[in-house]
Amino acid sequence: MANIIDFTNEIEQAKYSSLVKNALSHRTSSSAEIITFGCQQNEADSERIAGLCSLMGFDTNPAGSMSSDEISVAGLIIINTCAIREHAELKALSNTGRLKKLKETNPELILGICGCMVQEKHRFDQIKKSYPYVDFMLGTDSIHKLPEVLWRVISEQRRIYGVSALPHSELGVIEENMPVLRKSPFKVWVPIMYGCNNFCTYCVVPRVRGHERSRSEAAIIEEVKTLLDGGCKEITLLGQNVNSYSGENGGFVKLLENLLSLDGDFRLRFMTSHPKDASDELIELMNHPKMAKHFHLPFQAGSDRILKLMNRRYTKEKYLERALKIRQASPDCAITTDVICGFPGETAEEFEETLEVVRAVEFDTLFSFVFSPRKGTPAANFDDQISHDEKIRRFEKLTKLTNSLSEKRNSLLVGKTERVLCDTEADNEGFSGGKSSQNKLIRFQNPENQIKVGEFADVEITEAFRASLNGKLL
Ligand code: SF4
Repeated sequence: MANIIDFTNEIEQAKYSSLVKNALSHRTSSSAEIITFGCQQNEADSERIAGLCSLMGFDTNPAGSMSSDEISVAGLIIINTCAIREHAELKALSNTGRLKKLKETNPELILGICGCMVQEKHRFDQIKKSYPYVDFMLGTDSIHKLPEVLWRVISEQRRIYGVSALPHSELGVIEENMPVLRKSPFKVWVPIMYGCNNFCTYCVVPRVRGHERSRSEAAIIEEVKTLLDGGCKEITLLGQNVNSYSGENGGFVKLLENLLSLDGDFRLRFMTSHPKDASDELIELMNHPKMAKHFHLPFQAGSDRILKLMNRRYTKEKYLERALKIRQASPDCAITTDVICGFPGETAEEFEETLEVVRAVEFDTLFSFVFSPRKGTPAANFDDQISHDEKIRRFEKLTKLTNSLSEKRNSLLVGKTERVLCDTEADNEGFSGGKSSQNKLIRFQNPENQIKVGEFADVEITEAFRASLNGKLL
């Protein structure tokens, strides 16, 4: 049973929030900057961190980042890290390194690091030892403790660590009724489940985000109702394995049906799905008028031997059957995916099987990554690690193929009408931008901003490119 933290009952944290608020009135700066790396789940967490900062009296601007001048006088900087690949970690560490000078010129600045990277013991130890100017670290299951950690940093004038070293089966809570400062009132993230029990051999998520746990359906529906009443137009349901959601009244399809039955002109998205839970009922539901026509379904590799080594629990044939089922049942639905190039032991022939799947499904967009060994994961110690050059050769070959297919898929939309949620005001050329139901970027002429940010617009597609489309307002 998941440990649910209801922030409205966190009296202690409320006490610490007001203590920090009082302390702020004696400090030179009350501005806070949250720097976010990684996935949508981290974006959603950063909106909760921003909500807590605002509760404590910090000026936080979730919609945009500070200028370098503003950063130089910030009172609080929090780096929300990602551990999915080496590159993301090195970027966060180099960012932290660059802030050392700032701490020297502005000793009142409080610097904290949170997110998946601090949940890894070797990175936690590295930051503790080599970044002595980092004032606190906060684990993925302790965001609600930020007020306490900040008060202790201020009052005890020492470094504070709110990172639990719990095993997978115990790591992870569900934080309900947290203060949230969202980037947009129109397009929002709504996490519905956290953690993962799949243990793909290349992935750190289960170790840094803990066991799979789902929020209650009642809490999710309540949150979505409030958002829709507030004018929200697009809800993205989040989970590392969103389609293995399990609530008090049933699974993911049940939850979607209940959300889709809510009144209002809105659209519903979800990510990220696992092929083993892509049921016929879910695929059928993609045709619901309020369901965004986009299914993100990572397949990672085309060879059954490699899928087994990855512990992905499906075969190439099974994946193709699911993906082509979506194509057949919901022809307007865009399918996107993730692929890893150069998994240990993958032969050139096995990589060709990956390209076969790509040609068969013709993904609208494909996110490709070179294999990055993650410390503590089984695949990091597998024999036959592929050379960097060979990984890049495969990555480039895959990118060339997927780019041509993305353009082909987009060209099928020329002459069609797409419903776009306007994201931006008209630029100097009079163009606004937004995403279609298929999650494709569409630029359209928006004279005198007749379509406001946060409004839907019907746009006839006039031009197609690899990663975007142009159209005219109908
Ligand atoms: S399903 Fe696999 S890749 Fe996805 S988060 Fe879980 S362990 Fe990682």
